[in-house]
Amino acid sequence: MKYISTRGLAPALSFEEVVLTGLAPDGGLYVPETLPTFSTEEIAAWAGLSYQELAFNVMKPFVAGAISDAEFKKIIANAYSTFRHDAIAPLVQTAHNEWILELFQGPTLAFKDFALQLLGHLLDHFLKKNNQKVVVMGATSGDTGSAAIEGCRRCDNIDIFILHPNNRVSEVQRRQMTTVLAPNVFNIALEGNFDDCQNMVKASFGDQSFLPEGRQLVAVNSINWARIMAQIVYYFYAGLALGAPHRPIAFSVPTGNFGDIFAGYLAKRMGLPIDQLIIATNCNDILHRCISSNDHSKYQLQHTLSPSMDIMVSSNFERMLFDLYDRDGSAIRQLMEDFKSGSMTLKESALSRAREFFTSYGVSDEVTMNTIRDVFEHTEYLLDPHTAIGVEAARKTRRRQDIPMVCLATAHPAKFPEAVRQAGQAEDPVLPHHMKDLFKRDERYTVLAQDIKAVQQFVAANVRK
Ligand SMILES: *Cc1c(COP(=O)(O)O)cnc(C)c1O
Repeated sequence: MKYISTRGLAPALSFEEVVLTGLAPDGGLYVPETLPTFSTEEIAAWAGLSYQELAFNVMKPFVAGAISDAEFKKIIANAYSTFRHDAIAPLVQTAHNEWILELFQGPTLAFKDFALQLLGHLLDHFLKKNNQKVVVMGATSGDTGSAAIEGCRRCDNIDIFILHPNNRVSEVQRRQMTTVLAPNVFNIALEGNFDDCQNMVKASFGDQSFLPEGRQLVAVNSINWARIMAQIVYYFYAGLALGAPHRPIAFSVPTGNFGDIFAGYLAKRMGLPIDQLIIATNCNDILHRCISSNDHSKYQLQHTLSPSMDIMVSSNFERMLFDLYDRDGSAIRQLMEDFKSGSMTLKESALSRAREFFTSYGVSDEVTMNTIRDVFEHTEYLLDPHTAIGVEAARKTRRRQDIPMVCLATAHPAKFPEAVRQAGQAEDPVLPHHMKDLFKRDERYTVLAQDIKAVQQFVAANVRK
């Protein structure tokens, strides 16, 4: 399988090359040159497979030619061995034909573990094979950093540097990163906000001359194709559990950077009969405005109870636009050029196609809290604020009651105790057993000024020989 850039001006890459890079040199994002599809008979034959077996079947065409079957099976087995639940992605019922897909059973309690546990093992595999060492550098507002650190902490050939805004991530989130004391893990608390962190990382990717000889940077944010690929699997897993492919399925997805729901779109194109795909946003609703009224314009960032969805612009939407514009790289270059002014307008045919695939809905903090309370009152099941947004969007926009509605639970409620408290829950949600001592563990991190030289010097000085 080859991978091409959404902006049409970068050379096609192999799977291995695409995993070991960031943005394409033309500024675009990599997507598979052709999308594999599965027949109804093929999908039906997967009923009853374990998560790992299914993962192998769904992802195999994407890695074809790059990793042997036996090795890929081993990588998948290792990636999901850290999950606390044998089902890996269990389903829980919360109302008639309404299901929660618990994607928070991984080591950091958010769905990002699905992609980053796999990515860590993929990187480890390629780097060992090539006898190569790389530097992972990333910015986080919370969940990505800890999931990336958990994914890379055991990789000898990686040094990982994660920047978070000093004093601006929750204590659970900070401790999940800073209590990992592995010798290849470096946490930088930057004196600035998330955008400042991201700008430092972007600038470093743009000019990597500060790195020691022979090292390169690898991206672990959702521009990395392998992250999207890993997320396709659980759509098939939930679908098969609820009767697909003989019965259609609907999904509601709490959305920020559009990585998770883009994987759902791909699952549909690959053959899973998805009747409805709901983009659920908080009040940072650029995607909801785009789908509902063709208003794709940047608004001021709002801080909400669902911080992992607090974004102004969804970077993975470019992958979607590429398909909506018939894979015309020059059209995407033009759109992105227009968007520099702060807004873009989709052409009519692209908008109507987007509306065939997606329903969208935006949820305020107040309604998010009401939903947490309501679901708890009726089921004693506690939602985290991100998941609550998906459930609310599903309940408001659902087209057919006879089709199972799967709401993706993107985080464990114990990660966001403040929101749960505000929703009027008397007791804080309890951290899972393996994290009980999180608040007692030693932390290690370095506070740095908002100064690119200081950050790059720190990285260069700490990269292991
Ligand atoms: C990252 C994240 C999201 C948003 O996912 P995208 O792929 O960026 O759309 C939603 N919920 C939680 C808990 C997250 O960590």
